[in-house]
Amino acid sequence: MSESRPYRYASHLACPRCEADYALDSLRQLCACGSPLLVRYDLTRLAATWRPEQLAERPWSLWRYHELLPLAQPEAIVSLGEVVTPLVELPRLGDDMRLPRLVMKDEGLLPTGSFKARGAAVGISRARELGVTHLAMPTNGNAGAAWALYAARAGIQATIAMPEDAPYITRQECSLAGAHLSLVDGLISDAGRQVAGFVAATGVFDASTLKEPYRIEGKKTMGLELAEQLGWQLPDVILYPTGGGVGLIGIYKALQELQAIGWVKGPLPRLVAVQAKGYAPIVRAWQEGARESRFWDQSRTRAFGINVPKALGDFLVLEALYATDGRAIAVSEAAIDWEQRRAAQLEGTFVCPEGAAVLAAARELSTLGEIPADARVVALNTGAGIKYPDDRDLGVPRLAADEALPIPESTTRRPS
Ligand SMILES: *Cc1c(COP(=O)(O)O)cnc(C)c1O
Ligand SMILES: [Zn+2]
Repeated sequence: MSESRPYRYASHLACPRCEADYALDSLRQLCACGSPLLVRYDLTRLAATWRPEQLAERPWSLWRYHELLPLAQPEAIVSLGEVVTPLVELPRLGDDMRLPRLVMKDEGLLPTGSFKARGAAVGISRARELGVTHLAMPTNGNAGAAWALYAARAGIQATIAMPEDAPYITRQECSLAGAHLSLVDGLISDAGRQVAGFVAATGVFDASTLKEPYRIEGKKTMGLELAEQLGWQLPDVILYPTGGGVGLIGIYKALQELQAIGWVKGPLPRLVAVQAKGYAPIVRAWQEGARESRFWDQSRTRAFGINVPKALGDFLVLEALYATDGRAIAVSEAAIDWEQRRAAQLEGTFVCPEGAAVLAAARELSTLGEIPADARVVALNTGAGIKYPDDRDLGVPRLAADEALPIPESTTRRPS
């Protein structure tokens, strides 16, 4: 019977703000009211016909959840091998912060080295299916890299604007992939205005964060995978480094959809949005109990991927935090640096600064007593540490060619 089931269960696009509906198979950007659009699925039919056991035979990639993805045809898939990323246990780091059940979903193993590959894989596949030949987007680096490379694979042109101090490797990825790349003396919000001008002048497809409805569907697969990897048991807390917030909204959407089809039960995990002290619009809004954030002036952090002074989907992020009894928290740059080193030393895992911010937040919330020691905690490491070749002074000795290597104090010398 399984062959006769449809490939796709997506039914329409819906506005989470004004509740307008749009047909699925037309090229759409924002709702007429200015809100992002979300893909809706026939969850009733899925609940009746889809079972977790049906996943057993499928390859371990995000496409195993195609019933909850927007593609009409499997032939449309543009893939670079999106592996299901590991849930890595962190027993020593967990003990160190009194969270012995801490695990990390390590997104650094995806193509292009960050979870942005999820959004690009689904977003580009869907764009190609709908006939897009050229797209434009602003980026803090990783999204542009992923979209440029997946666009190249799909034969789609990409125009990308990136702050000039974004991680150098991501610039190379865009440029080598043949994207039309511009470096901007400003923030992603400035690049966003430039892309909007370019789109207005050309009619090129706008692939900016949440200005098309499919990137979030790709990012949603983090939540689907996580639930499956935990045996369809939900954790107590999920911490996520929040920039545009698509990952967090996506995880929330995934868990709600799984709840609706009956694959997970009980309360949703508390969702925690992590930002940095030099840039914390969502944290400020959460502290004020606001439904939207205000533009954050002079925003700055080494965790470059989350430096978004005003996110289009801020109201959806905040809604997810309020609805799950979650919270937002900002960590210091010093805490990010320290935690990145700590994770590498205790666990051998080289997380990106954004991932380090999440671990630092877990530590802080444990210290504050806001996460109990028996909680099952999932930290998202959104990218590989090796994507950030900054030249911080790490205190490493420099030797002349004929100098002896220093012997660490902990090492005994051979008796002479
Ligand atoms: C883009 C990015 C984020 C933020 O993701 P959003 O879904 O936009 O909130 C976090 N970490 C890294 C490494 C990123 O590249
Ligand atoms: Zn609307």
